[in-house]
Amino acid sequence: MLTNLQARDVETLVHPYTNLVAIRETGPLILERGQGVWVHDVDGKPYLEGMAGLWCTALGYNNEELVDAAATQMRKLPFTHIFGGKSHDPAIELAEKLKEMAPVPISKVFFTNSGSEANDTQMKLVWYMNNALGRPKKKKIISRMRAYHGVTIASASLTGLAGNHNDFDLPIAGVRHTTCPHYYRLAEAGESEEEFATRLAADLEALIIAEGPETVAAFIAEPVMGAGGVIVPPKTYYPKIQAVLKKYDVFFIGDEVITGFGRLGTAFGSEAMEMQPDSISIAKALSSAYQPIGAVMIPELMYEAMLTESSKLGNFGHGYTYSGHPVAAAVAVKTLEIYERERIFERVRAKIPQFDARRAALEDHPLVGEARGKGLVAGIELVADKKTKHQFDPKLGMAAKCVAFCQQEGLILRNVFGDAVTICPPLVISPAEIDELFDRLTRALDKTLDYAVRENLL
Ligand code: PMP
Repeated sequence: MLTNLQARDVETLVHPYTNLVAIRETGPLILERGQGVWVHDVDGKPYLEGMAGLWCTALGYNNEELVDAAATQMRKLPFTHIFGGKSHDPAIELAEKLKEMAPVPISKVFFTNSGSEANDTQMKLVWYMNNALGRPKKKKIISRMRAYHGVTIASASLTGLAGNHNDFDLPIAGVRHTTCPHYYRLAEAGESEEEFATRLAADLEALIIAEGPETVAAFIAEPVMGAGGVIVPPKTYYPKIQAVLKKYDVFFIGDEVITGFGRLGTAFGSEAMEMQPDSISIAKALSSAYQPIGAVMIPELMYEAMLTESSKLGNFGHGYTYSGHPVAAAVAVKTLEIYERERIFERVRAKIPQFDARRAALEDHPLVGEARGKGLVAGIELVADKKTKHQFDPKLGMAAKCVAFCQQEGLILRNVFGDAVTICPPLVISPAEIDELFDRLTRALDKTLDYAVRENLL
């Protein structure tokens, strides 16, 4: 029986990434307020937000400094755009700070409202650059199976998940997907991580050659795949991939939308993964999700090409009304100040051993095939048979069941492709709360196991 608010919800809202039929019966969980790493529903029940919302609320749910930064900017100048020669202090300060923090040499910053828009912009900038460089055929972009880069037409095409393509008539032309770097599922018997990485680089090279290197413009990758199931690439992966990209003059786009700002214990995930992208997409923790904002960090080579091309055309014809929105930019500036002042990334590093130990221990559970992760992000893959790695029928939705049991236990997690449950708490989670998170998840896994036994699914 739906509550009044739930009934009003299902009569009016189309929810993103939701089973549109099931929600009409169950109604949504309606949240009302937050405190630290906790959120409360309308009945006052607290939940540990083990996913930081959608991998984004790095500083938790009641940071007054961020609220003040927004309110102050709103009172001063709630909006001005940065088109056609206008600007404002928060956008300038934020761009300066990002250039300073970037893990690779960055020349300029272009602001967006989201990660999807950042990756869309990346694709357009690569095309624009190659037109300027006089190689109009070099336009294809290579992504990876199970990558997640967003949902706009271009970024959903880069995403390597069937659910984002089927019946949306995607991917668009000129996008290819190479092998997913998932050792647990895709390594051959006896193959070491290093050998697997060599094979993945060979797969990429074969694809570039098959397509024609003169047609391949860029490769895009998340340091650690997020929504595709938290896939940590095998050792030596990026150095080997980067050697191939260099050989064929293929631009490297880093998608740090999840891994940017401390998630892996370093400011950027690139630093933790021996990854040296040419350009970088960011969003989410850039503002700790208190305001929607994303950005593309642009290297000098690309900027020079943009100058050339736009001077031919008289204008750089790309930008969003809210690119560099002053309130979002002011909140992001404050967020970066807090990361630095509170030494948030260093404190994340101190929490990793405990998080790692609790994560690894989950592999003792009868339903857990692989408990993988890096830093404060993890993917727990459920299997029907640990020895054979045999999965449950996807129609059974076992990871979704587990997430529902988590919710009963007062823990919010998410289920993603490949029957995995993902964990990505706010960076400010305390050691006691890390234990609480894994205790609650373990109880939910036990309930999932009881359910599987009861229903004869094993
Ligand atoms: N890239 C990555 C790596 C992401 O995880 C996401 C969102 N989960 C996006 C891009 C898209 O970001 P947004 O939802 O803000 O458009």
